[in-house]
Amino acid sequence: MEYIRLRGLGVSPGIAIGGVQLTEKVVFTTRKEAISAEQVDGELNRLNGAIERTHEQLVRIRDNIKDIVGEEHAFIFEAHLLILHDKSLRMSLKEIIRKEKTRAEWAISRVHVKYQKLFESIDDEYLMQRKFDVADVLSKIYRNLETAEPGKKEEGKEKILVAHELLPSEAALRLSKGNVLAVALDMGGQTSHTAILARSLNIPTVMGLRNVSQRVKNGDVLIVDGTDGEVLINPPLAIQKEFASKKKKYDDYRKELKKIAKLSSKTLDKFEFLPLANIELPEEVPMAFSMGAEGIGLFRSEFLYLQSTTPPTEEAHYQIYSQIAKDAYPSPVYIRTIDMGGEKNLPHLKIEKEPNPALGLRAIRLSLRDREFFKVQLKAILRASAMGNVRVLIPMITELEEIEEVKMLFREIQQEMREKNIPFDENIPLGVMIEVPAAAALTDILVKEVDYISIGTNDLIQYYLAVDRSNELVSYLFKPLHPSVLRLIKFVIDTAQKENKDVTVCGEMAADTLSAIVLLGLGLRKFSMNPIFIPRIKNVLRSVEQKTAKEVVEEAMLLKTAQEIEECIIERILLKHPKAFLMEL
Ligand code: PEP
Ligand code: MG
Repeated sequence: MEYIRLRGLGVSPGIAIGGVQLTEKVVFTTRKEAISAEQVDGELNRLNGAIERTHEQLVRIRDNIKDIVGEEHAFIFEAHLLILHDKSLRMSLKEIIRKEKTRAEWAISRVHVKYQKLFESIDDEYLMQRKFDVADVLSKIYRNLETAEPGKKEEGKEKILVAHELLPSEAALRLSKGNVLAVALDMGGQTSHTAILARSLNIPTVMGLRNVSQRVKNGDVLIVDGTDGEVLINPPLAIQKEFASKKKKYDDYRKELKKIAKLSSKTLDKFEFLPLANIELPEEVPMAFSMGAEGIGLFRSEFLYLQSTTPPTEEAHYQIYSQIAKDAYPSPVYIRTIDMGGEKNLPHLKIEKEPNPALGLRAIRLSLRDREFFKVQLKAILRASAMGNVRVLIPMITELEEIEEVKMLFREIQQEMREKNIPFDENIPLGVMIEVPAAAALTDILVKEVDYISIGTNDLIQYYLAVDRSNELVSYLFKPLHPSVLRLIKFVIDTAQKENKDVTVCGEMAADTLSAIVLLGLGLRKFSMNPIFIPRIKNVLRSVEQKTAKEVVEEAMLLKTAQEIEECIIERILLKHPKAFLMEL
């Protein structure tokens, strides 16, 4: 048996060694089969029947998943039901059958291509990945054009799943059975639902392997290394042994992380801090808490708009928000209103192409332009707030007037809800993101108008330093420890605390060990980050004194360059806490 080593994208860490189980995929037809004008109605009925069967299946799978792995993983099927019942998707299918007088298979194939192109043209990895959800629903309808029940059962033995691509609903169904050791796919990326699901179920997964599904056959021995993004087909015994010991190390490391997650969030001198999680999907809540999160510091609500080609209904918003609030209860959940526009565009948002999207119609600017659309989201957040642990967070605030307008809308909706006796939290905290330098400089004025602020350092630094960090030509200039960035952040934190207002940092700076110590030294207590970084940051902050961090930062801030600041902090922290960075995970 030939030994092959393939490199891909590790999307869920860990190592597994086992036998291959190939899955078959739906191949959409490339043949346009014509029908007569008289057959059109029959074909439309055939399509409707398939849609109905798909609906029944999705509802059944959703309910099963709820029972097997919990409600949070069933969400994906709600999203798929929304896609299935999306008006423009159905219209497109029917129109092709009517106009081109063809079989439903061809219509699905055409619509599939159209939507794949549409999503691929979006210059945002996360949004682009939503094409798999649409493909997933379309292939279900496709299978259901045959009246026979789809799906073959391969229960029982533990195996490594290999496929061209694993559509999200299939992933939820297969991965939840507890008999999948690992996953290896030709397609896919970091932010796909399948990747997120694999991470939260702790199943090592490598995607983007291009042709792994063609290079293996059932029964081959496979090693999947989700940490390093490698797949080894039929490795010799010596290599299997090497990976078995790597696997043991990783499994021990996971146990260590879990232990840290349970420890108290206090520095050596008992300064209490709060690790919070940034998430994009409701399914991530349990994983975030298992990593030691003590709340959801940032729920990026954009994802909801990506599930469908029409804007989500108030009910769809509400279901998601109340689910997160329930799963996180009683810990706080900060729901950020839609941060789209600019390069995160979607057809139903009807935004024209802008010459400079980063400085364009983004986030709150877009929401305030389309108020009816914004009110739907605010209403749903308010309804979910009845739970008592929801906060609302507004992105990209630039000036006071925007806060006033949001508050006016908020009051208007609250009044309507009172009149209709719809329960909500009368004291729901309203906060703003500080991510535009103008807002940062205006913190003393803005903070008086809100209950809390959250510093989005990703955008704040990019706008303050005028550096696009995804642009390789200038990304070397993106420096969170730039003296001017530190001065600005210090001003924001000090000002908020003077007003006794809560302040969080939810940009990636909070997940960087050195920067986290600096933020701690600046008096920050709430650190919100991708949950996988929580144990690492918790560990580092637990290994230092806040008092020392404060002294060190005060001294470092007198220096002139980011490099001097970085060196000074490392040196001075190590002097006092020699083990601080040794404990880094
Ligand atoms: C930020 O800008 O730091 C932030 C957290 O928002 P996002 O990364 O979603 O733009
Ligand atoms: Mg931002």
